Formats: sequence, structure tokens, C-alpha cells
Amino acid sequence: MRRTLRSKRSGMSETESNNDPRVAMYSRQGIDVFPFDDIIEHKERLAIIDVSRNNIATIPASINNFVNIIELDLSTNRIVKLPDELLQLKHLRILTCKNNHLNGDSLPKDFGSCPALQTLNFSGNLFLNFPVQLTEISSLRVLHMGGNRMRDIPPEIEKLVRLEHLYLGGNHLVTLPPNVGNLQKLLSLVLCDNRLASLPAELVQLKQLRSLSLHNNHLTILPPEIITLTELCELSLRGNPLVVRFVRDLTWNPPTLLELAARCVKNNQVHYTKEDLPGEVMLYLDSARHCLNPKCYGVYFNARVQHVKFVDFCGKYRLPLMQYLCSPECSPASRRSSSESCSSSEDADSEDEVQVPRNKLKKVLLG
Ligand SMILES: [Zn+2]
Repeated sequence: MRRTLRSKRSGMSETESNNDPRVAMYSRQGIDVFPFDDIIEHKERLAIIDVSRNNIATIPASINNFVNIIELDLSTNRIVKLPDELLQLKHLRILTCKNNHLNGDSLPKDFGSCPALQTLNFSGNLFLNFPVQLTEISSLRVLHMGGNRMRDIPPEIEKLVRLEHLYLGGNHLVTLPPNVGNLQKLLSLVLCDNRLASLPAELVQLKQLRSLSLHNNHLTILPPEIITLTELCELSLRGNPLVVRFVRDLTWNPPTLLELAARCVKNNQVHYTKEDLPGEVMLYLDSARHCLNPKCYGVYFNARVQHVKFVDFCGKYRLPLMQYLCSPECSPASRRSSSESCSSSEDADSEDEVQVPRNKLKKVLLG
């Protein structure tokens, strides 16, 4: 076996990986031609070919000799076209071709007939439009199309019914077709760093969605139904006009006279008995809830301030959490101005965080 045939899996020792006959590892070799002559003798046993980070411009038609290839990494080269013969690799599951010079004319016309492809990475290329052929690859589970120049996504995207992860960040998207709502298996959807001014309400059909990345867009509103995405646990919104406006527009309906009186009774610990008050007033008093501002010992009944608190995870995700306070004066923003700092997840805000019972914390929801 040649010296350059080695495993890309870091878990293996150097000796072990040098001897792995299934892997042809040519990453960072400074080559400008696909190393066909070097590896053709192993054509049937090769499962992985990695020629990433070189200066290769052309993938030869003879790639179809490697009939048992499962994974092909062509990333960070100068590739302008993928050969039709790629479609003959019936076991190819992972094709990584990020950071090349691919555009709408670069793909085989029948690219959709890749029978086994599950993970496809075309991020960092020159696509101006989403290649419609990709929507025919029904086996696809992971699709990276980030960092291109795409302005729109075709409605046919809905045909990718097995898709679990869709990366469209860093494009020029202005809108998203409602059909995205039909990707029922979707677990994560990355739309950050685009020009989206709105989202289709159909996104709420993505019942399995766990992560929705929307930062750095032009969003001013979100579909209110987004609160029904019960699996959603990561939502990033920073860098949208929406966030600023939402926080400023929080409204406060003043408490009723009944509530004001009841608050006085509770806050001043006025003693009362069943003999003093009608039953319904007793029940009302019992419904008092404590303000979630740890520095406030007050209670509220029906009038409460919905306070959205943003927790920033290393600048990557910004999660607005909703909590209830007894009055606008209890808003942390009025006590200190800290929320814009982007430190690690828990420091500046942890003081409040630990005071908030988990059952009072709602995952976001901007509506
Ligand atoms: Zn309070």
C-alpha cells in the first residue's frame, strides 16, 4: 500500500491508518490532478477518497472505476464541473464538494438519480440558483448549500422528504417557499445571514424541528404560530429588526382595582380569616404568584409583564426566554443595562436564571 493511502479517521493510529486499504487520503498534498494513477489498483476496495485542499480543477470521467466508493471529499479545490460518471457510483453516500467553483452549469443533468446519496455539501460555491436536480435525490438527509449566492429556493424542495438538516445560511435569500413546511423530517434549518424579510407561516408544520437559525436577516415579524413548534430548542434571532422592536413594544395592562387591593394585602402580609372575607375573594388571594424578579418580593394575579430575556450562547445562538414579572419596574433592563454583552452562556444572567422555576420558563415566542 502506498504511503499516501491512509485513514482520515483521527481515532486510528498512524500505523493502523496507513494500512487501511479502504481509504485513499490525499488531502493537502499540493496536487493539481486527481491521483487516478496512484489509486486505480485499489479501485474495488476503496470506500473513501479524500482529495480535499488541493488545486484540482477536473474530476475525471474515470471516477466511475471506484465502484464501491461510499464517501468522496473534493472540498476546497478549483473544481468547475462534476462529471456525469459520478452518477455511476451506486454506493456513494457522502459527497463533499464545498469551497469550489461550482455553478448552475456544473452538475450532471441527471444528478437527481444518485441512488444512495445521503449527505451532500455544496457550500461555498457559486450557485446563483438552487439546482433543481437536487430535489430529485430522494435519499438525501443532509444538504449544505450555505455560502452561495442563491436568491430563492424552488418549491420542489418539498420533494426531499427525508431531509433532516438543511443549511442555507450565507446566501441572498429574500423569501422562502411555503413548501419548506412539507419537509416533515427536518430537525434543523439554517437560514442565517440572508435577506429574509418574512417567513412562511407553513414553517410551523415542521413539528420535529429542533433548531432554527435566523440571525442576521431582515425579519420584522415571525409567524405567531411558531410557538407551536414544541420540539424547538434552539432559535437564533440576533441581527434582525424584530428583536429590538419586540422588546421595546412589550405592553403593560395596569392591574384592576381588585388586583391592586389584593397585592396590598399580600405584599403587606395583612392578616385575614375566613370570617373576614367572602369565599371568592379568599380564592382570589390564594391565586397570587410571586414575581420572578429575584430582588422583588411582590406578587401578581392577572396583570403581569411578559418579560423576554435573551440568553446568548457564545454569540452563536440567542434564545429569548419568557418570564413573568409583577410590573414594568421589575424588568431587568430597568435595573441594569447588560443584555447586549456577549459573554459565555451563563455568567451575566445566571443570577436571575437560577431564581426562575423551570415551569415558569417558556421557550420563546415572539408573536
Ligand atoms: Zn416584581
